[in-house]
Amino acid sequence: MTAILPIRWRITLWYAALLLTTLAIFGAGLYLGLRTLLFDNFAEQVSQQAALLAAGLDRAADRPIIDADTLDDFDDEERFLRVYAADGSVIADTSAAAEISADALGSVDPRAAEARYQIIASDLGNFGVATVPIKVNDTVIGVLQIGLNREDVDEMLRAVVLVFAIGAPFVLGAAVAGGYVVSRRMLRPVVTITDLATALQADALGSRLNLTLPNDELGRLAGAFDAMLARIDAAFARQRQFTGDAAHELRTPLSLMRSQVDLALSRERSLAEYREALQSLGGDIERLTQLVTTLLTLARADAGKLRIEREPVDLATIVASLIDAYQQRADELGITLVDESDSTPVLADADLLVQLLVNLTDNALAHTPPGGRVAIGCEPRSRQACLWVVDSGDGIAPEHHARIFERFYRVDAGRARDQGGAGLGLAFCQAIADAHGGSLTVDSEPGRGSRFECCLPTA
Ligand code: ADP
Repeated sequence: MTAILPIRWRITLWYAALLLTTLAIFGAGLYLGLRTLLFDNFAEQVSQQAALLAAGLDRAADRPIIDADTLDDFDDEERFLRVYAADGSVIADTSAAAEISADALGSVDPRAAEARYQIIASDLGNFGVATVPIKVNDTVIGVLQIGLNREDVDEMLRAVVLVFAIGAPFVLGAAVAGGYVVSRRMLRPVVTITDLATALQADALGSRLNLTLPNDELGRLAGAFDAMLARIDAAFARQRQFTGDAAHELRTPLSLMRSQVDLALSRERSLAEYREALQSLGGDIERLTQLVTTLLTLARADAGKLRIEREPVDLATIVASLIDAYQQRADELGITLVDESDSTPVLADADLLVQLLVNLTDNALAHTPPGGRVAIGCEPRSRQACLWVVDSGDGIAPEHHARIFERFYRVDAGRARDQGGAGLGLAFCQAIADAHGGSLTVDSEPGRGSRFECCLPTA
């Protein structure tokens, strides 16, 4: 990988480049604008002075006359004048003091009689030279040319360039330093996040940035990072809990089986006794297999790999077959089993729905005392097909409602284990409902029974 400049440097350099461009454009614009303005003003000034002077000149017959004072005024390094007669001959000329050669000025044709303005360079500086005809009643009797040294204006423009040339590097330097400090400061949370992410160990997911930042992009990034850590942390904790619980659930029946085997082998036994021991072990293995299958299904559901094979089914048919299967057990328990189903066609995995109802019905029968009532039913609702199991049993205190769907959660852990429940039944039902894009809810009150309802989308 090629080395890449750190972001703070890149931001700074971009900033500097932009500033430099802005300064250059601004400086050039300012300079050119100022130059045009000053030059135009100067040209105006020279032309006006020439026009005024030409209008005020004394004239004798057909020649202009220059008085000594005027000549004197225009005879130094700052200004000069030249006066031509109508035939083009020079009457007065002070251009020597301005170090301007006659060649540079060239000749003037009085017949052209047009005012003009030009720049002529001398060793003393640039001179703005205005040429105006001298007229008497529209007749040209000569030409006046005056030149003013533009050095002051040129000097001022050079000073502007100098200020920019000296000032720009300072401004740029200050901006780069400031930009670097500011971008470094602003990116500090990113450094913190990187450090934390680098140092993060799978077993120390409890660390958080806990940065108090404004609600800007970085503040939200830090918040999102902490929220993500919290989610991963919780998921890891659930995973650890699940693995621990699963190991615990598997160990209990395994050690029971171990002691059955030990007992059977502790002395010579009859064939019938061995058979009985093996049969008992077979039952335990069956329960273990079921537990492991459920765990596997839940793990698949977690990975989003629970395969559901949708087929058109009528929930009423499933309910009817279930009532059939449970009728005898309900009779033995002294519980009335009621079918509340309406025809409810839906596209769903019938096998999984049977397992869902089996779990709910097992729970209902287990928690309903003799003389009670358990109803299983279904009905179509707007865009939904709903299934329920209602019992008149013990009910569940509200504080357990959210948790009973968690894996291995049992309201009364000790008692439930005697009844063989591992606390996976409702978690399994939940996974089945989720896989169908549906929901599983509980409505229950201690002493008044429970209603578990699963609704699947039909659209
Ligand atoms: P288990 O397989 O142990 O029954 P579940 O996940 O099916 O586990 O149920 C979790 C807990 O919810 C159970 O321990 C039980 O206390 C409670 N529960 C479930 N169904 C009912 C019900 N119909 N009436 C009362 N309590 C129930």
